Amino acid sequence: MENMLYNYTNEELMDQGEYQVFGRGIYTIYEVGGDTPNVVALKGLNFEIKRGEFVSALGPSGSGKSSLLRCIGGLQKPNAGSIKYGNLDITKLKEEELVSIRRNSVGFVFQSPTLIQHLSAKDNVINTLRYSGNSLTDAKKRTNELLDLLGISHRGQALPNKLSGGERQRVGIAVALANNPSLILADEPTGNLDHENTANVMGLFQDLHNDLDTSFLIVTHSKYVSTFADRNLELLDGIFLGQHTGNINLDSLESSRQILIGNDGRLNLPPELIGLIDEYGSAWNLDYIDDNEIPEIKLTPVNKNEKENNKFTSCPLCSTEIEPNQAYCTNCGAQLIK
Ligand code: ADP
Ligand code: MG
Repeated sequence: MENMLYNYTNEELMDQGEYQVFGRGIYTIYEVGGDTPNVVALKGLNFEIKRGEFVSALGPSGSGKSSLLRCIGGLQKPNAGSIKYGNLDITKLKEEELVSIRRNSVGFVFQSPTLIQHLSAKDNVINTLRYSGNSLTDAKKRTNELLDLLGISHRGQALPNKLSGGERQRVGIAVALANNPSLILADEPTGNLDHENTANVMGLFQDLHNDLDTSFLIVTHSKYVSTFADRNLELLDGIFLGQHTGNINLDSLESSRQILIGNDGRLNLPPELIGLIDEYGSAWNLDYIDDNEIPEIKLTPVNKNEKENNKFTSCPLCSTEIEPNQAYCTNCGAQLIK
């Protein structure tokens, strides 16, 4: 049993310290070959998932979501950087060790669950539990609990192709939860579901997160799916361009976006803010949010009407007192009137 050698338990791996996952400087590069330049899919990402946190990474197709999820789950080694589970850097492990970690600590949910077609819903879950060394009696007991928890006990005998999309995804989630992982990684988990089933599955994730204290990372292109998370990271071209910790605004992401500064001091301005630099000159409001390990600022352009009427009494950038109708701040040079 290769598993005996590397039988890390959840406690050893995941339940240490404040962070469940701690990633630094993650690069993923795909060699395409020929004359085509390599694709740098992840460009030095820093991220962390706190214990029991529900995080989403939101980004369009090609932004690097699946690459990120595979790296965090130990399915793919990044080309540079470290990813720690507790004290253990999983990028340094051998494949056999990663197999054990994935089995014991991480549950994966994909757009289409990988179910064995000739086994019933119930037997798919039992099979996963047997594979990781449980007795048949224990596996059956746990499977019944899981099917109950996910509200699909009545469909236990059905073969996968007789289940609806929503039911199939619930069985997929039961398989992911089978070994009681402390981290669930989900890649577009509702990509094949209609709105109602999407809401149901995401509500279920929230319940599991609350009841079992499981951490979640969901990567998705759907703003709606993102609203179910506690914290949403926006991914674009392999870079996090901001995050949302309050309610995400489906109509305008920028209204709730917090700009991230990397631990290398790099600040990534989102495209629409770069566009506004011309319109608003250098007049910005900066709000520091300093209760996190990673410094963050919220950067919003100064209200246009406020600026046109020039009602500033102090510089929005450096807080130096200014005179009415002063065009530039005498201290930092910020433009105050267009
Ligand atoms: P997403 O899940 O957000 O669509 P991916 O992580 O799948 O993003 O892909 C990020 C970028 O990396 C894309 O430009 C994609 O074309 C490229 N990419 C992903 N996998 C490979 C691969 N195996 N070989 C070459 N390029 C890849
Ligand atoms: Mg993807």
